[in-house]
Amino acid sequence: MAYRVTLIPGDGIGPEITAATLQVLDATGVKFTWDQQAPAGMAVERRGETGPDPVIESLRATGVALKGPLATPVGTGHRSINVALRRAFELYANVRPVKTIIPGRCYEDIDLVMVRENTEGLYVGVEHFVAVGDDPRAVAESTAIVTRKGCERIIRFAFDYALKHSRKLVTVVHKANILKMASGLFLEVGRDMAQQYQGRVAFNDRIVDNAAMQLVLHPQQFDVIVTTNMFGDILSDEMAGLVGGLGLAPGANIGSKAAIFEAVHGTAPDIAGHGTANPAALMLSAAMMLDYLGEMDAAERVKGAVIRTIREDEVRTKDLGGDATTSEFAQHVSKLVRG
Ligand code: NAD
Repeated sequence: MAYRVTLIPGDGIGPEITAATLQVLDATGVKFTWDQQAPAGMAVERRGETGPDPVIESLRATGVALKGPLATPVGTGHRSINVALRRAFELYANVRPVKTIIPGRCYEDIDLVMVRENTEGLYVGVEHFVAVGDDPRAVAESTAIVTRKGCERIIRFAFDYALKHSRKLVTVVHKANILKMASGLFLEVGRDMAQQYQGRVAFNDRIVDNAAMQLVLHPQQFDVIVTTNMFGDILSDEMAGLVGGLGLAPGANIGSKAAIFEAVHGTAPDIAGHGTANPAALMLSAAMMLDYLGEMDAAERVKGAVIRTIREDEVRTKDLGGDATTSEFAQHVSKLVRG
């Protein structure tokens, strides 16, 4: 059987790192039928047309996508394509594992997962100005929308993820001491749900400012963190910084009907076309996709091969201080995956 998956190579270095990742997936022996979408077909705004968007139609049919980064024009009124996809499929869980790959940096043995709520909170964009006197923008008001249903599905996702991946602890990060309703509801749901997982996954909670400090002081005390949209946005970048930045950070956006797997980094226009981009983050995202599809063995082989290539074999691209090209890196990982 072949898995039908939407493939969005993306912009900038996207096509280079996607080609490298496909080579590695091919080495696993798992069969795929790729429904490849050109980046130019990405969004109605981009194409300047109305009607169904081919990428959205494709993802509706396949339910799974492997995606390269997409350039979002700044200040042109274009809606972010990434946001459009997230909204269309209600991809409520943003999952970012963070793991030490190269030893000798600030921290050793970091192995954490951020589960960020992706559809609610302060990022819903419910904002307005209030006029006072002759100033039409005297006051800005922004509303955080937090629903019990939204809290339940993301916190359940975090506990189920912990169970599936043999993780021991889920930490709810919040600001319930100040935001007694918006953040208080999240914490309340977390505490209730923890009872259902008692004896299987441990639970605790941290106030967000303390969590930010503890991540720097003792990151190893955390395992799976689950939090609301904006806190997750900020803390996930902090967590990527603990292991040396975004270059090795994979990610997934998961909903009940679709999932998109992509690296956290962007299109890297400064090195696009040079053949030197690091494809590791997209390869690790592809490993997350294999895991999601139930191909656990192939997922572990890809993850293990990427880590070994960088750590033990020291085949590294320029961003990691090496001189391997994108395709040399891909060849090395593929050879290890084949065994
Ligand atoms: P970026 O992540 O593209 O680049 C930041 C720096 O990191 C650059 O110096 C770049 O060369 C380097 N870098 C990033 N990925 C690398 C890789 N795999 N290998 C080697 N070096 C790498 O961030 P940016 O410059 O802020 O954004 C560029 C474009 O990407 C923007 O249009 C932005 O909107 C878009 N973007 C898209 C996504 C996405 O589609 N998910 C995410 C972030 C940014």
